[in-house]
Amino acid sequence: MINKELILKAIEARENAYCPYSNFKVGAAVLFEDDKIYTGCNIENASFGATNCAERTAIFNGISHGNRLIKAIALIGDPNAFTYPCGICRQVISEFAESKDTKIYIIKNENEILEKTLEEIMPGTFTKEDLDK
Ligand SMILES: [Zn+2]
Repeated sequence: MINKELILKAIEARENAYCPYSNFKVGAAVLFEDDKIYTGCNIENASFGATNCAERTAIFNGISHGNRLIKAIALIGDPNAFTYPCGICRQVISEFAESKDTKIYIIKNENEILEKTLEEIMPGTFTKEDLDK
């Protein structure tokens, strides 16, 4: 069952995007183990490499509040298409995801949402377990 609040908060967070260079707004909302939702938007920079994606902004927001486990994440970019997380964000999601089955909701609009799992969008992920081998 899709967490409607998670979807709405991602859509709402998109409005705070700081994207004067791409004009491509992205919003994200993450449900953590404290059962609270943390949001984020993309934050661009004149030095493009300093740009931070919405998903990572939201994840770092939750982590900085003491959380370590992502229960679900929702994101919205282009409202006319499904915008998936970039490779860097997929790697960061994998660091904190509760499991490979953690849900990732790709939102086009309030009524059109793709439900994916981490395993589906990032198979064979390099994780902290790989460092123990
Ligand atoms: Zn990203």
